[in-house]
Amino acid sequence: MRSAIPKQTRAPRSKASDIKAPTVSFVSLGCPKALVDSERIITRLRAEGYELTHEHKGADLVIVNTCGFLETAQTESLEAIGGALAENGKVIVTGCMGAEPEKITGKFPSVFAITGPQQYESVLEAVHRAAPPQHDPFLDLVPPEGIKLTPRHYAYLKISEGCNNRCTFCIIPKLRGDLVSRPAADVLREAERLVTAGVKELLVISQDTSAYGVDIKYAASRWKDREVRAKFLDLARELGTLGAWVRLHYVYPYPHVDDVIPLMADSQSGVLPYLDIPFQHAAPDVLKRMKRPAAQEKTLGRIARWREICPDLTLRSTFIVGFPGETEKDFELLLEWLDEAALDRVGCFRYEPVAGAVSNDLATPVPKDVTEERWHRFMQRQQAISTRRLKRKVGKRLEIIIDEVGPTVAKGRSKGDAPEIDGAVYVKSKRPLRVGEIATVKIERADEYDLHGTVVGF
Ligand code: SF4
Repeated sequence: MRSAIPKQTRAPRSKASDIKAPTVSFVSLGCPKALVDSERIITRLRAEGYELTHEHKGADLVIVNTCGFLETAQTESLEAIGGALAENGKVIVTGCMGAEPEKITGKFPSVFAITGPQQYESVLEAVHRAAPPQHDPFLDLVPPEGIKLTPRHYAYLKISEGCNNRCTFCIIPKLRGDLVSRPAADVLREAERLVTAGVKELLVISQDTSAYGVDIKYAASRWKDREVRAKFLDLARELGTLGAWVRLHYVYPYPHVDDVIPLMADSQSGVLPYLDIPFQHAAPDVLKRMKRPAAQEKTLGRIARWREICPDLTLRSTFIVGFPGETEKDFELLLEWLDEAALDRVGCFRYEPVAGAVSNDLATPVPKDVTEERWHRFMQRQQAISTRRLKRKVGKRLEIIIDEVGPTVAKGRSKGDAPEIDGAVYVKSKRPLRVGEIATVKIERADEYDLHGTVVGF
């Protein structure tokens, strides 16, 4: 994911001073977790009076926040660094690829500095060397919620860094280290600031959201008049009281995830009936080789129970096909599992060997053409399931949050659609809608990915 810097981050230059603020051009690549890192760096830069620009040319320096998860992401990151060097020359590289500096210096020895993921201080220190900050009280004003790269009405909320799992295809723990959870009060303070600033939807992210607090032994911290434990359920419940939609991403199906389902079934709780669970596969042998957390055969039974308790639950997941050693039988099993699970939204990756990942040498690689063929079969099978699931919403009245407004139709999302990854709801309305507004919409039809309807209430 590449993020453009929104207009709100380009502060007007102070008229009260001749001081010219140093300018920074910022490229943010990778997942929502990397986006949150970018927001933190940008917030700090703006607090110190740096100005952001869309153009590499003419900026005092360029920062590239890289993604190193897959080979293709690394290629995109290297291209972004090369482009920035060609246009500007003073380039600071941070993010996941920064954990393997030799990959960058091997190709671009002239980069100004390289720092690893979450090394905010090191990025700032490199920026100070490249273009020292100028103090100007007019430029130093930063909104209290920090600078967001997402639209004003939704925001990602990162509750922890790193991961204690060791999935064999993943090098994130190597790049980002073990799980480090933020105290619950810290997360809640940030969430409250965001809601006060107009955020209507909080997207909870981490590498492993349901493992939240394990590393700090679920320690309680003081929030308002009470102690809140750093526990998945406790945090979800408290976040739900802030008056915004709360959407949970990257949840592994540990047994305690069952406890959050009643909260999702309660429409007053604020916690959306939406679970993003990256299952990755269904065949026991493949899951074992993947070393997936909480991988167990009883998942189908649990999904059925979750839906009994919370019939509106939307389940989103991702899968990998062509994992080393995946047999035709394993793949068939995955397709059968998909039929039974009837997930609402699904993404599928073709296995890609990532340098340094254990999985590369675990078993015989699946030939590329076989992986490709399986990917198409998978997508076809799931497409029919997703379309069927979406059709069930026709005739219902759903709350829709508006993301974009057009001359005749607005684009929004239901509680079952996360921004950027899921479908949209196209909405007609007699009165003009505002971005961030939540309207009640009667759903009139569904196509492959999206819903269409008309506003019937506010
Ligand atoms: S849970 Fe697995 S895939 Fe996710 S970050 Fe941790 S090791 Fe990587």
